[in-house]
Amino acid sequence: MSSRLRWDPVLEEWVVIAAHRLSRTFLPPRKWCPLCPTRAGLPATELTEPDYQVAVFENRWPSFDTRTEAGAGAAGEASGLYRERPARGICEVVCYTSDHDRTLAGLSRRQLERLVEVWQDRYLCLGSKPGIKYVFIFENKGEPVGVTLHHPHGQIYAFPYLPPRIKRELDSARRYHRRTGQCLFCETLARELADGRRLVAVNDTFAAFVPYAARWSYEVHVYSRRHLASLAEFGPAERAGLAAILKEVTGRYDRLFDLSFPYMMVFHQAPTDGRKHPGYHFHLEFYPPLRARDKLKYLAGCESGAGTFINDTWPEESAAQLRGSKAGKRRP
Ligand SMILES: [Zn+2]
Ligand SMILES: [Zn+2]
Ligand SMILES: [Zn+2]
Repeated sequence: MSSRLRWDPVLEEWVVIAAHRLSRTFLPPRKWCPLCPTRAGLPATELTEPDYQVAVFENRWPSFDTRTEAGAGAAGEASGLYRERPARGICEVVCYTSDHDRTLAGLSRRQLERLVEVWQDRYLCLGSKPGIKYVFIFENKGEPVGVTLHHPHGQIYAFPYLPPRIKRELDSARRYHRRTGQCLFCETLARELADGRRLVAVNDTFAAFVPYAARWSYEVHVYSRRHLASLAEFGPAERAGLAAILKEVTGRYDRLFDLSFPYMMVFHQAPTDGRKHPGYHFHLEFYPPLRARDKLKYLAGCESGAGTFINDTWPEESAAQLRGSKAGKRRP
């Protein structure tokens, strides 16, 4: 069954219609976890080895169609306003560890470094495939963000076009670079390091902070301290630095309310469209849906219908909480 892209002429963006995904595995009992290694006497899982460190395989329920011949010739039912085309791309699953009960925060620094190496490898490999314009690495963690499997894992979507959010960041970065000759992200980072109120964690190669205009109560962005466009430019120092800061940020999240903290983690980096993007800068963004221990943030009317987030927390106070200091008095 194939996925299709349909063009929304009002918002000028593609929507992926992948109706076959409705029947995908949903929160199976632990015994039937498809991401655990295959155990003697039980049916084979996605991983046939008895153990693994990091494992990558193609998603059995892809949002994109991996078959290169998919919908060949069917440019779509373009008529008037409506356009449709095959949703060609690649969807991979990255299992962080064979241990069902771990999370990113629970991995050792060495395991995390290996994971960064795997991300780097997938970025280069998928990005070099014809027609792949953006390699989107992400993790949905926890049931509040719609996770269907508990085993610690992330995903990679290799897009056949530039996703709108990335395009918007690229456009503003390009304008800023043209106007000032500087990188918008390097400048933001310098300002956050100098100010310090929104900082959450810093090491030699990475810094994590709650953004000035955070949309989510505990949103955190992680920037490389050097001006790097993508994982392709990472050396051993960056791999170790990213591993260390991921462990620190996710550990702080888990300690905040003393629970396994749900989040979406997304990678923003240079597209693989063959163009130069001099003003773009590698970073990660965490969007946690919790705004208090027992309160979830929903993308409700204003966020979904007006495109404006309402955050009921001061970013400076969230950062202070994440740094481990007592929360100050809420400003009126
Ligand atoms: Zn498992
Ligand atoms: Zn930069
Ligand atoms: Zn970004």
